[in-house]
Amino acid sequence: MIRIADVIEKKRDGGTHSRAELEALVMGYVQGAVPDYQVAAWLMAVCIRGMAPEEVVDLTQVMAASGEQLDLSSIGRPVADKHSTGGVGDKTSLVVMPLVAACGVPVAKMSGRGLGFTGGTIDKLESFPGMRVDLPAAEFVRQLREIGIVITGQSADLAPADGRLYALRDVTGTVPSLPLIASSIMSKKLAAGASVIVLDVKTGSGAFMREREGALALARAMVDIGTAAGRKMAAVVSDMSQPLGNMVGNALEVREALDTLAGVGPPEFTAFAVDLATSIVSLASGASDARPHVDAALRSGAALAKLRTMVVAQGGHPAAFDDCARLPTARLRHEVVAQNDGYLSNLDALTVARASIVLGAGREKKGDSIDLAVGVELLAKVGDRVKRGQPLAVLHLNDATYTDQAERLMQEAIGISDTAVDRPPLILERLGI
Ligand code: URA
Repeated sequence: MIRIADVIEKKRDGGTHSRAELEALVMGYVQGAVPDYQVAAWLMAVCIRGMAPEEVVDLTQVMAASGEQLDLSSIGRPVADKHSTGGVGDKTSLVVMPLVAACGVPVAKMSGRGLGFTGGTIDKLESFPGMRVDLPAAEFVRQLREIGIVITGQSADLAPADGRLYALRDVTGTVPSLPLIASSIMSKKLAAGASVIVLDVKTGSGAFMREREGALALARAMVDIGTAAGRKMAAVVSDMSQPLGNMVGNALEVREALDTLAGVGPPEFTAFAVDLATSIVSLASGASDARPHVDAALRSGAALAKLRTMVVAQGGHPAAFDDCARLPTARLRHEVVAQNDGYLSNLDALTVARASIVLGAGREKKGDSIDLAVGVELLAKVGDRVKRGQPLAVLHLNDATYTDQAERLMQEAIGISDTAVDRPPLILERLGI
């Protein structure tokens, strides 16, 4: 019989848990036999003492097994998933998943909604009127089998231990712990069933892991967890010091994703999405160079058609594929102009996100409603030469009351220097790619 008080003391003293101890604690908590106060004490001990790699693997597997685990073996081929730790303007999944699916690799993804400064793929997909993002597991698997691509919201039955533990971490100062973050993310990925998982760990002001070293350590820990569970894993650490691409805001990002799949997206974002898609297709197929296939899927329009097929399969209206004006569109526009001549040296991702939240594009807390149409369109990026009075961004808004506040935040986000500034690379580190 395992006493939970002994488990807490062991971690307090820097000990290493057995799988049985982690099972007693986590499953006891999920089943209501272990109270919040004991788990809170244990979480704090983990925050301070850390966990050995094998403990993190065990903890993740126990959490993944705490609810439904999707069996995708009936698909008969490796199924791919991608995860981003979240950022500002991050519409990568909307481009990468169709690219991969158009190369013949089935993709199945469960995504979240936006919270705080990070956006969420599920909100973005709701820019297509009627789009269902709450598919039950059987429909998720059926759609995957039939059209090779499915993206839905995360089912509540998936890794329920993570939901309970995260809620407790949120109110006990125990969110920022690498083993707890890695096990939280990977428990959901393992339970969702894909055998190929590519992680995009963001770093910079608009990322959960601000420092590059921390982001790299998190990427390594997650790759190790997935590999220990028999999944094919790869990861990048990518820049989130400025927003990704040019659009921040739900329908604006969908527009940019559609443009990118139509071959007219921002070149750097396009290259980033193609790079990630190539890694996923290579891992899934074993092909040493998948790049020509991904390029062809983009050039031929096959990836764009794949996304359209997915939207229609999930009940979404595809009019925006023919005319982007059919996406939710804000009534008003306001230009933010450069205050000096020089080079754009800063476009702080977090501050741009705050401007976009002020306009109504994001949530302060779970359950808040959002305005899909509003957000920020960036007309210049770090490294660009700019002239005083030149428009650097356009605010898309429905309520003029917020114009001044959003304008102030945008001016705060923008830095202009007299000397030339290098364009920051998007991919900073690669693991297994
Ligand atoms: N995202 C998660 O899913 N879990 C964490 O702990 C942090 C970010």
